[in-house]
Amino acid sequence: MHFAQAIFSPGPSLQANQYFALIVPFCGVLLGSALVGCWAVLKTHKYLLWLAAGYILPALPIAVQSMQTNQQLAQTSVVLGCFYLLGLWAIARGMAQRSGGDASPKIALLISLLALAGLYYFSQVVDDIHMRMLILNIAMALLLLLGLSAVYRHRQAEDIFERILRGSYLCFVAYSLIRPLVIFIAVEQNPLITLSQSPLWLLMLAANLLMSLWFVGVLLAVTCREVLLAMKKERDLDPLTQLLNRRAFFEQAPARIQRSKQGLWALLICDVDHFKQINDTLGHAAGDEVLRSAAKVLARNTRHTDLVVRLGGEEFLVLLNCDSLHSACVVADRMREQFAEVHLASYQKLTASFGVVVIDAADQLQSAINQADNLLYVAKRTGRNKVMSAQSPEWPKKLHATAC
Ligand code: GH3
Ligand code: MG
Ligand code: MG
Repeated sequence: MHFAQAIFSPGPSLQANQYFALIVPFCGVLLGSALVGCWAVLKTHKYLLWLAAGYILPALPIAVQSMQTNQQLAQTSVVLGCFYLLGLWAIARGMAQRSGGDASPKIALLISLLALAGLYYFSQVVDDIHMRMLILNIAMALLLLLGLSAVYRHRQAEDIFERILRGSYLCFVAYSLIRPLVIFIAVEQNPLITLSQSPLWLLMLAANLLMSLWFVGVLLAVTCREVLLAMKKERDLDPLTQLLNRRAFFEQAPARIQRSKQGLWALLICDVDHFKQINDTLGHAAGDEVLRSAAKVLARNTRHTDLVVRLGGEEFLVLLNCDSLHSACVVADRMREQFAEVHLASYQKLTASFGVVVIDAADQLQSAINQADNLLYVAKRTGRNKVMSAQSPEWPKKLHATAC
């Protein structure tokens, strides 16, 4: 059978069509509710509410229109058009907000007002269902386009899941752009159809349903992944300094050492001198600020291959990719000098002591940390504000003067 004929011939049973058509808005409400539920649990991803509105709002006109004749469609077209336009803009807004943009509310309002004016004209002044469908579908496609431009302008991190989500939205927009064209061609061929009872209407609803299921599925998967990654990041980072914590260090360090081509690694243990005194004289908040500054000093003297860790309190650890113990000590000494530049709201100068050892295998990590700790202890005992190395030529004879 010719395709155009097939899609315009009335369905086998009007009731069956209507039952099917009602599944679509019902699913829209379910999908929207799932997104609201997701937001209620997370309380952070506000854009989920916009996307939920994007599924719930059009459900009403879809349900109502599926039950209406062409004459009834004319009477309700402006009101129901508002729900469609608002719903589609909510999807665009949600997607744009997710990428840190917005979906140009003023342009959206202009498009919507023009579309509503058109719907009014072609329902109350001249009754033309084709024009109404065209106007509404073109307006909806334009609203979705506003979201698309925001999504591509404010791109998120380039990972595969983000690309799938963006690609899905792109398909959704492309489908919305093609839809008015299909309607135009199809309705031109059979001006007398009762649209809501035609297979074309059911075909469009089925396509909408499948696309919505896919899109919400991808969206929820991407959101879950985002939340898990954020939780992992939170678990690995020290909240005060944003450095890695001890747990993350022992998880990441062995792999980092094994992966590197350059085999030598230095372990620097750094402890701020007389930190308790800083807390006591300047207050705990100032102490916290000193810890943040200390973390910055350590981080800016390392590369992305190195690891900088807050072991706890005012004690830090740096895993440094280096070519010799000497070069590691040079880095540590540069850090030590930069501690003196940290501004303290008193006459005191900030100082720190370091213990440095080198290793070439991951299984030496724990013993190297103990060794660096011993060196740090000696640095403290012998006057503080120094870098102590176990393989220093002076060690252990000139204990008091030993510095790299
Ligand atoms: P030393 O020169 O021998 O290292 O002496 P110190 O005073 O630096 O070391 P001590 O171990 O006596 O004191 C460390 C202090 O650090 C005690 C503790 O209250 C404080 N501290 C630990 N964690 C934090 C923190 O997160 N913020 C602040 N402000 N203080 C902290
Ligand atoms: Mg200390
Ligand atoms: Mg300490």
